[in-house]
Amino acid sequence: MRILIISDIHANYTAFETVLKDAEGQWDFVWCLGDVVGYGPDPNECVEKLKTLPHLCLAGNHDWAALGRLDVRTFNPDARRAVEWTQDTLTPENTKFLEALPVTFVIGDYTLVHASPREPVWEYILEPLIAALNFPHFETPYCFVGHTHQPVIYTMVDENGDTHSAQPQYNQPHHLNGKRQIINPGSIGQPRDQNPKSAYGILDMETGVFEHRRIPYDIGDVQERMRNYKLPERLISRLEHGL
Ligand code: ZN
Repeated sequence: MRILIISDIHANYTAFETVLKDAEGQWDFVWCLGDVVGYGPDPNECVEKLKTLPHLCLAGNHDWAALGRLDVRTFNPDARRAVEWTQDTLTPENTKFLEALPVTFVIGDYTLVHASPREPVWEYILEPLIAALNFPHFETPYCFVGHTHQPVIYTMVDENGDTHSAQPQYNQPHHLNGKRQIINPGSIGQPRDQNPKSAYGILDMETGVFEHRRIPYDIGDVQERMRNYKLPERLISRLEHGL
């Protein structure tokens, strides 16, 4: 079975559609690591598209924010405005879809969470030390996470839990070889690694090969809709910088 692994779509339907087209015919099932909504202009379109695909989806902090499960006072003013707009825009049916999302999922050799194994909705794994502290919190060899919007592979290199990080080699097979790893496919809808291209991954479960990918999409198209909806300018401009 080949899995399309996606995360942090953030209501960016243009990017989502571009990724689906790029990966067309190359996967059988979708693992979505959360934050389907928040920031972007197309929350309903993204949820509705995801629903048409064979998939499982985890809950992210922005999905929870859209449900009113979080105190949005912890968000910065721009993010808060986007949350409120998202709450007003989501249909009751799509809100129900988000309400049903689990926070962790274990399937075969893989643990799936939005943020981190020990704090599935919250923690940012931005450095090897934080990754190292998370290895004891899941039992499978491999874990896929999103949340930071930065593609990366963390590998536990010895019994003491020493952990290294590696930048992805795009479009190159990465062989899962039994060493424990935490892998982030990056973000579809709001990349933050100074590369504005959409990020995603493909996993072949039979061969244990994972591939990170990037694909450019029509950023101006999304920005135009965001301007029409009067979403915060900072959220609009960051898309073209990948920040
Ligand atoms: Zn996110």
